[in-house]
Amino acid sequence: MAGIWVLAENFEHTLELLNIGQQLAAQLGTRLVALTNREKAKATELIAYGADEVLLLPVLPDDQPWEAWVSTLAEEARQADPDVILIGGTSRGQDLAARLAARLNTGLCSGCTSLKLDQENRLIMERLVYGGLAIQTVVCPTRPQMATIPPHTYTPVEPQPGREGVIRELTTFTPSPVKVLSRRPIDRKSADLSEARVIVCVGRGLEKPEDLSLARELAEVLGGELGCTRPLAEDLGWMPADSYIGISGQRVKPDLYIGLGVSGQIHHLSGIRDSRIVCAINNDENAPIFEAADYGIVGDLKTVVPEMINILRKVGQK
Ligand SMILES: Cc1cc2nc3c(=O)[nH]c(=O)nc-3n(C[C@H](O)[C@H](O)[C@H](O)COP(=O)(O)OP(=O)(O)OC[C@H]3O[C@@H](n4cnc5c(N)ncnc54)[C@H](O)[C@@H]3O)c2cc1C
Repeated sequence: MAGIWVLAENFEHTLELLNIGQQLAAQLGTRLVALTNREKAKATELIAYGADEVLLLPVLPDDQPWEAWVSTLAEEARQADPDVILIGGTSRGQDLAARLAARLNTGLCSGCTSLKLDQENRLIMERLVYGGLAIQTVVCPTRPQMATIPPHTYTPVEPQPGREGVIRELTTFTPSPVKVLSRRPIDRKSADLSEARVIVCVGRGLEKPEDLSLARELAEVLGGELGCTRPLAEDLGWMPADSYIGISGQRVKPDLYIGLGVSGQIHHLSGIRDSRIVCAINNDENAPIFEAADYGIVGDLKTVVPEMINILRKVGQK
């Protein structure tokens, strides 16, 4: 037995992993297996979306964390001997992947941004290092070859109606020595920027916190969300701590990103590199963000932004 396995925390992320999983499975001439904790209806959908087999993970009691699945996964992997295991690179996914790799005594490349097979069918994995300044290429000489992949790295696959596949339930797990006492939602203070189609991002070019209202108005007119650079959240505290974008903040993929008074340091740019259109407004024509921007306006944001809002409102009225 062999195969490509994919496992992610939610359905959308699983579809993204099925995209790259499908490409690898086709090249290796092997099966694509999706693992999920979802109910059977979702499992049937996953087959329509390209999985040849869906393994339903055991339902865990409330006091069991995700890591209780490590024993299930390790046992199944020992029997099925998959070529590749791809796990969604969320914090839970990273944790699970590391534990599973240790159990299987194999290598793991976390935070992969690109995967491909070389002529010897080795998985060539790439990830950003040194704060996004360099790309590291990694191979894993042991089996299975394991990688974690952050959300939004690949586009979700499209369904192919009429596909058939197998659904199998895995029932056994070894309880974790850690017990969960309670779970409660985090009181998020900002929007989930990873899903936003339009983002207006404010940087230290803003003179005072009152200037945020101008940026907020622009975001509103465009139907977008407001994000910021790290200094605005962490140093100045003008924006919630979870609203900054970049290597140590949120990674975003909007159709339109507009940076207002953002210089464009690499730590910030690595969080916006997947944006479709980048627009920058900065009063320094040599600001590095202009090199990453599709459209740039050299000017004072306090003059440019009100003009943009006026024009957008007029266009919106037509
Ligand atoms: C380990 C590490 C991790 C980091 N992670 C992150 C991260 O995840 N995200 C992040 O954002 N940063 C991160 N940083 C910080 C990062 O290196 C930069 O310092 C930060 O992004 C700069 O923020 P800024 O562009 O708002 O400020 P600045 O670099 O100070 O730029 C302000 C810009 O505004 C322009 N400006 C000034 N006045 C006006 C005006 N009136 N009109 C128009 N433009 C104006 C200026 O010309 C300037 O280009 C990290 C740093 C380190 C060391």
